[in-house]
Amino acid sequence: MLIQHNISLKPFNTFGIDVEGVDFISVDDIAMLAEIGELPREKYILGGGSNILLTHSPEGIVLHNILRGIDKIKEDDTHVWLKAASGELWHMLVMYAVSNGWGGMENLSLIPGTVGASPIQNIGAYGVEVKDIIDTVTFWHWEDKRSVTFSNEECRFGYRDSIFKHELKNKIFITSVTYKLSKHPEYNTSYGAIEQELHQMGVAPDVKNISQAVINIRRSKLPDPAVIGNAGSFFKNPTIPATQFEILRTGHPAIPSYPVSETTVKVPAGWLIEQCGWKGYRNGDIGVHAKQALVLVNYASAKGEDIWQLSGDIVDSVNRKFGIELEREVQIW
Ligand SMILES: Cc1cc2nc3c(=O)[nH]c(=O)nc-3n(C[C@H](O)[C@H](O)[C@H](O)COP(=O)(O)OP(=O)(O)OC[C@H]3O[C@@H](n4cnc5c(N)ncnc54)[C@H](O)[C@@H]3O)c2cc1C
Repeated sequence: MLIQHNISLKPFNTFGIDVEGVDFISVDDIAMLAEIGELPREKYILGGGSNILLTHSPEGIVLHNILRGIDKIKEDDTHVWLKAASGELWHMLVMYAVSNGWGGMENLSLIPGTVGASPIQNIGAYGVEVKDIIDTVTFWHWEDKRSVTFSNEECRFGYRDSIFKHELKNKIFITSVTYKLSKHPEYNTSYGAIEQELHQMGVAPDVKNISQAVINIRRSKLPDPAVIGNAGSFFKNPTIPATQFEILRTGHPAIPSYPVSETTVKVPAGWLIEQCGWKGYRNGDIGVHAKQALVLVNYASAKGEDIWQLSGDIVDSVNRKFGIELEREVQIW
């Protein structure tokens, strides 16, 4: 097992934050995990670094996940079960499924990061969440020193949430995920501008065309981390009681909402942030994206602490104006 010392994490996070002096192991074999587990050091698992904000140099050891492999492990008349090693790039897996015409992942095209991170925050986009297609998640448990497989139910998925952000946080290393995909998919084109994009493309909905439509929309809307450092949506969309929403609507008639249950609604965090005047804000190298108020950005050499501070200022101002406490979606290191 090779431990590299004095590594900079700048190339390993989409915010492009530089922290140096890091101890680093590239994990390319599951068999390494038993030995790594014995190291008396805090362990930081790094996938594509697209959902983390580095506020300091991790004092433990960074485990860069490059476990690879995709297998079709089962199939029947209606479904295929795809097992992917956790270090595979999520979008590459989507492209593999799409090229075979297997449905379920197409709305989640072009989300950065790795397979292993997909269950952690139950990635979602365009009306689909990965929980809809996850069959099982397999992980190495550091303390128990064994591999465990959880069913979809055991993962306790919620909106950008799972057991891996709670009871199992920092206790496990996800090694593979098995997805159940459909050979005769039902398409979900009702969300966002997918139907409009398909119309403009002049094509009928199928797995490939929906994937391409989502890619086109995402490219036109979201800042590319290769150009401006960012980690996608920095905050979750808050869910609030319907009674609170009705009171808010009297003062803010244009406030958008989506029903969650009979008693709760979701409010777009981007709208709340924009109403507080943050959209397009810039101070030196930190800022709020001019087109997407949910996306905090690093224009060049920002420090993670400064972006953290900015996120706190945004939370405070939204709280003052609307009485809603925003929750960060990005993991803070
Ligand atoms: C431009 C952009 C657009 C985005 N759009 C979306 C979107 O539409 N929907 C969405 O849901 N997200 C979106 N994201 C967020 C991000 O892509 C996802 O959260 C993604 O799943 C993170 O994967 P990662 O491999 O980069 O995780 P990392 O950032 O490397 O890690 C995130 C967290 O998961 C932990 N972790 C990672 N891998 C493992 C593992 N194998 N075992 C245990 N713990 C692990 C890490 O320790 C860390 O705490 C976007 C990000 C960007 C930059």
